[in-house]
Amino acid sequence: MITRHIAFSGQPLDRADPLRRDPAALQPWLEGDALLLGLDGLVPELDGEDRLCWRPIAEAQPGAELVFLGLKDGRGVFAAVPARGDPDPAFTRWESWNAIARLAPDELALYGGARSIVDWHARHRFCAQCGQPTVLAKGGWQRDCTACGTSHFPRFDPVAIMLVEHEAQAERRLLLGRQARFPARSYSALAGFVEPGETLEEAVAREVHEETGVRVDRVRYLGSQPWPFPSQLMLGCIGYAMDEHLTIDPAELEDARWFTREEVAEALAGGADSTSFVPPPKQAIAYDMLRWWLEESA
Ligand SMILES: [Zn+2]
Repeated sequence: MITRHIAFSGQPLDRADPLRRDPAALQPWLEGDALLLGLDGLVPELDGEDRLCWRPIAEAQPGAELVFLGLKDGRGVFAAVPARGDPDPAFTRWESWNAIARLAPDELALYGGARSIVDWHARHRFCAQCGQPTVLAKGGWQRDCTACGTSHFPRFDPVAIMLVEHEAQAERRLLLGRQARFPARSYSALAGFVEPGETLEEAVAREVHEETGVRVDRVRYLGSQPWPFPSQLMLGCIGYAMDEHLTIDPAELEDARWFTREEVAEALAGGADSTSFVPPPKQAIAYDMLRWWLEESA
C-alpha cells in the first residue's frame, strides 16, 4: 500500500453529517460568523500567504445555493454553487494549476472536495428523471426534484489507474503510456473508468488489455485519490504482465513502453529535465505509485 500523503486527501473539516440531515439544526451554523470559501467560479482565491480566502457568509450572493462543507474551529463553513459548472474540467487550466501548486496539503484537499461538490450542483440543476428543476437538499449533499421528488446524490466516477510490471532475466520493468494530449515526453500509469458490472480488478485487466494488448494477473490495490477535475475516485493498482508484447490501441494511446527501474528513478529525480521520460505531476496518484514501486522494488 502507498503510505505517502496523496494530494487532495486529508481535508481537515469535521463534516458534521448529522447537521446535514436537519435543516433546523444547520440553520444556526449558517448565521453569525459562518465562513464562505473564496472561489472565483471554480478557481480558489488565495491570500498573500497562499492560503485559501474565507469571507463572511453575508458576502454570498443573495439567493445563492450554499453547500455546507463542515465545521472549522467551531464555525460553519460553506461554499456557494457557481452560476455554471466547469465546461472544460481540465487540470491543465493554468489558473487552477497555479493555485494548486501553492496550496498546503490540507487546504488543497479542502478545495478539491469543495470544487467537486459545487461543480456537481451547478451541472445538475435539472432532474435526470423528469427534466424539471432540482433544488439543493441535505445541506448540499443531495438535490431533490421539485416536480417528481426524485433525490439525486453527488456523483463521482471510479477510475482504475495501474502500474503493470513485467519481470524477465531478473529485471523488473514497468509499462507506462502516453496520450496525445500529454505534454511532450510525458508517460504515466494507464487508466480508465471502471464500468458497470465489473470489479476493480477486472477493470484493470480489461483496460490494460484494451490499450496495450497485455494480459495481467494478480491485480492488487495500492491506494486511492479523490481527483476533483471534475470528480473521480482514482483507484491505484498494480498488475503483473503475463508477457511483454505490446499491441497499442492508437485511439487510446499515442505510445506505451516498458521502462526499467533506473529509467523510472531517473525520471522522478529529474522531473521535466529527465532524459528517460517526464513523470506525472506530484499532485497525481500516478506519481505516488511510481515512488511506491521504486521503494518496493529496491
Ligand atoms: Zn423529477
